[in-house]
Amino acid sequence: AKNRGKNCFKYFSPNIGQRSREMATIEQRLHLATENQAFELHYQPILETSSGQIRSFEALIRWNDEQLGRIPPDKFIPLAEQNGLIVEIGQQVLNQACEQLCQLHQQGYGSIKMGINLSTRQLTRPQFASEVINTLDRYRLKPSDIYLELTETSVMKGQKQTVRNLSKLSRLGIQIAMDDFGTGYSSLSYLKRLPIDLLKIDRSFINQLENDSNPAILSAIITMAHAMGLEVVAEGVELESQMRFLSDHNCDLVQGYLFSPPRPADGILELLQAQPVP
Ligand code: C2E
Ligand code: CA
Ligand code: CA
Ligand code: CA
Repeated sequence: AKNRGKNCFKYFSPNIGQRSREMATIEQRLHLATENQAFELHYQPILETSSGQIRSFEALIRWNDEQLGRIPPDKFIPLAEQNGLIVEIGQQVLNQACEQLCQLHQQGYGSIKMGINLSTRQLTRPQFASEVINTLDRYRLKPSDIYLELTETSVMKGQKQTVRNLSKLSRLGIQIAMDDFGTGYSSLSYLKRLPIDLLKIDRSFINQLENDSNPAILSAIITMAHAMGLEVVAEGVELESQMRFLSDHNCDLVQGYLFSPPRPADGILELLQAQPVP
């Protein structure tokens, strides 16, 4: 039916029109959600491999829209990056995560840290570093209480302002984590150029451990990171066998469904209370 009639409709696919209408609706709702601060954060624990103790939580954004239902972050974050809403959303995430961490500290878990995901659009703003510091002050947190997760592609662009912000934040004592490490066009040179403290190995390396070259790559990444003085987190750990490999190869930290999925705020105290006493 597509090829019937006029030539100019030859390549028309009803799916494209449908999809862009869907995106337009999502974008409209996203503006509203941002105005109404309608986002929620879920938190996933990151454990020390050797002790099994929870070191930190990663804050992961959730959007449950009245009309559209749950929209996964992989769908709306890229949109928010395109239209610039991510700057405002990112500030809301930072606020909410710091407020939650402040509460945890008041509840007696003062050594727990919080990982916060960033987009490039946030890092290219000259005022970003001071906004982070102001937020920490507001919740009476220290720079070392949080760390910022960014992806390879976002820093690869190597914008001057990004590097300046990262250096400033790092000098102030905020740790920087390289997220999804090993995906994208990995270049090791930026690991030397940028103030990175933590490598988060992408879960594709963990969930394909049983085949071919992945175990060698994984152990090489861990060895290299340690040689550079970085700590290593394995993402997406789902199986005991994966955990055993990571433990045998001295991976410092682990995160994944094997330990816990991301949970709403009211579920994380329970996790901490269920921990073995150190
Ligand atoms: P990410 O930063 O790599 O986050 C890890 C993703 O893996 C999360 O998906 C998490 O739920 C999922 N995950 C955790 N453990 C496992 C596991 O054992 N197996 C599998 N298959 N998956 C696991 P989520 O929450 O859907 O987030 C997707 C992406 O959206 C994040 O990837 C991050 O890039 C982005 N994102 C989430 N929250 C924020 C935010 O506040 N700001 C920004 N800029 N991006 C965010
Ligand atoms: Ca992350
Ligand atoms: Ca990741
Ligand atoms: Ca990711």
